[in-house]
This record gives sequence, C-alpha cells and structure tokens, in this order.
Amino acid sequence: MKSVNSVLSSYGTTIFEVMSRLAQEHDAINLGQGFPDGNGPSDVVAAATDYLENGLNQYPSMMGIPTLREAVANINKRFYGLDVDWASEVMVTSGGTEALASSLFALIEPGDEVVLIEPLYDSYLPIVQRAGGVAKLVRLKPPAWELPEEALAAAFSDKTKLILLNTPMNPCSKVFSRDELAVIAGLMEKHDAHAVCDEVYEHLLFDGLQHVPLMTLPGMRKRCIRIGSAGKTFSLTGWKVGYVTACPELLGPIAKAHQFLTFTTPPNLQAAVAYGLSKEDSYFNSLSDNLQKCRDLLANGLKEIGFEVMHCQGSYFITTDFRPLGFNGNDEDFCRHITTEARVAAVPVGAFYQGGGVEHFARFCFCIEEDTLVEALDRLRNHFGG
Ligand code: PMP
Ligand code: GLN
Repeated sequence: MKSVNSVLSSYGTTIFEVMSRLAQEHDAINLGQGFPDGNGPSDVVAAATDYLENGLNQYPSMMGIPTLREAVANINKRFYGLDVDWASEVMVTSGGTEALASSLFALIEPGDEVVLIEPLYDSYLPIVQRAGGVAKLVRLKPPAWELPEEALAAAFSDKTKLILLNTPMNPCSKVFSRDELAVIAGLMEKHDAHAVCDEVYEHLLFDGLQHVPLMTLPGMRKRCIRIGSAGKTFSLTGWKVGYVTACPELLGPIAKAHQFLTFTTPPNLQAAVAYGLSKEDSYFNSLSDNLQKCRDLLANGLKEIGFEVMHCQGSYFITTDFRPLGFNGNDEDFCRHITTEARVAAVPVGAFYQGGGVEHFARFCFCIEEDTLVEALDRLRNHFGG
C-alpha cells in the first residue's frame, strides 16, 4: 500500500484526547482537557433549540448567516473600537480550529517562514507544516513566560509570512501587554509580515486586565486576522462556532480555504451565537468574574497541597510546578499518575513544546463547578497528604 501523508501521520493522538480517555477509564475528575462541565447560558441554549425546531436547518451561506456576522462586527466595535464591515470582513467558521486552519492554508506558500511562540496549542504546528510552512519557534519559559525580544527578532526574516499569536495564551495563561504587542507589530512592519491572532479566550481575562487585539495597534488593521470562538465565550465548547475578522484582501483567500474544508457551520447554532453576542456587558463581565473565583479556588487549593502555582492572567488554565511534591518522574508520568491514582486528570505542559526541556509542569483546568473543584482538591490532598 502507498504511504499516507507523512506530516500528519508523524503526529500521535492529541494529548487532550489521550488524557480525557484515561480520565474516563479511571473515573477521574477531568481537569485535563479544557471544557466547562456546565451546559452554558440557558437562554443561548434555548435560542438554539428554537432555531433547530423552527427551521434553520439547511445549508446557510458559506460566509455565515448575516446576523452572526453583524454581531461579530458589533462586538469588534463595542469592545475594541474597531470599525468592521460585516459583509466583507467577517466569516463564520466551524470553531477557532477551522478558522486557524483556513487562515494558515490561505496565507502560507511552501517555504514561507512562520513564527510560532511556545508553548504551542496543539493544532498550530501540524497545520503550518502541512501547508508547507517552515516553523521558527520562539520559547516562553515558566515561571515568568517573558517574551524574549532578541530571540523573537532573530526568528523574523524577510521570508516570514506570518506570526501566530495566542493571547490570552493556552496553556500558560499569559496575556500579552500592549508593549509586547508593540514589539511584535514593529517586527511585522519591518519584515512585511501578517499575524494570525488566536483570541479565543478574549473574554476570559482576570483581575481587571483588558484584552488588546493586536489588530488595534497602529498599522495592524490590515496585517492581522483575528479569531474568536463561541465555544469559550458561551462555555459551549462542543458547538464549534468560530469567527474570523480580517480586511477583505485577507478574508477573500481565507474564504477560499473555508469553502473546501467545512463550507458551512450549523445555522441554528450560528443564530443562537448571534443572540448571545448581543447580550449586555454584564454577561461578559460575570463570565470572567465567575471564572476568576474558580481560578482562585483551584490555585489556593493546589498551593496548600504543595504545588508551586504560576500566575494565571486569563483563559481556563493554571500551570503548576509539581517538583515540591517530591514526585519522581516527568510531567507525562505525573499526569498519568494523578489520573490513575488520585483520580484527577491534568495535562503535561511539555506536550506544548517541541524538543523537550520543560518536564515538570502540569496544567489544570478550572472552568468547572466549584463543588467538583473542591472534590478534586480533596482527592489530591488525600493522595499527597498536603
Ligand atoms: N485555540 C486555542 C488556544 C484553544 O485553546 C482552543 C480550544 N479548544 C482553540 C483554539 C479551538 O477553539 P474551538 O473549540 O472553537 O475550535
Ligand atoms: N482547547 C482545549 C484545551 O486546551 C482542548 C480542545 C481540544 O481538545 N482540541 O484543553
């Protein structure tokens, strides 16, 4: 038999799936893969039910239903002051994942260089490589996750087609400051590069921090592709409704990729997300306030047990250093150990790095009901005796 594609087949099963399966097998509380254990806002779910029952069930327009595209344009204006033309600058995708793939397939020519910042979300590198891109990796290191400006500058060249930027960042929960974004913007201008901005956690920032899209910096409006996800904004990750905002010159080619990947996204869910995006500011504020309480509960509990806990500025995740617990093994051993023995699953942070070197950090997800977090902490405390 002839061989299959060598790029994709060189990857194993994603760590999120691996840890979730292990959690299920051992009846563990799953603080590994990042998804909430609730059922999302009931009015948004009710809107979807209504649209499902009352006839939004056939192929919608390839670009997404106009009401959702208008709602995305309005969100851009309401939160970031961006003037966006919904008809030529917004497209709906099947989740942030498809938005990323469509954007990367649309922009990258074989041999183009792509700057990626580690820790890396799992889909980035495989898609860049499958598109023929040459990855230039820049590493953020725990515990401070500082942007190494010299290394970043060295990763850029005149062959750089784009940088892929994730803020708030999974798994390390870093929120890029305006100064850091300005450094990135300067390099993009110097090397005439684009940015694919993965902003799926844009509404999940804590301690009063504000999300700043790179697209809002001077000179960046036409260089950036901004990606959002209803999965995170409405705590409904299985819906897989995402959206892309970009100038028409970039959105056109991205739509070409989208039309051959998924073409459309369920219209009933799109309509419910449009309803959700038009909710009052209080919805968005309480989303991050409630999550911040969960973050604090989990962070304090893990500290008491003996973990070293890194600061979390946004997203669903806390990174911990487990060395103070005296565990003998690497991060993957540790995450398997606590899943099978303490029955609490986490994800090894080393899975987000190429080439090793980060081996004693575990990521815990906190977008989980408080009672369940308390139970998970009890299990870990009983196991480690903290
Ligand atoms: N980017 C990052 C950084 C993520 O954590 C996720 C979460 N799953 C995605 C993209 C994908 O989002 P979606 O579920 O909307 O495809
Ligand atoms: N974004 C989620 C996480 O980081 C998982 C999404 C997925 O499984 N693809 O855990």
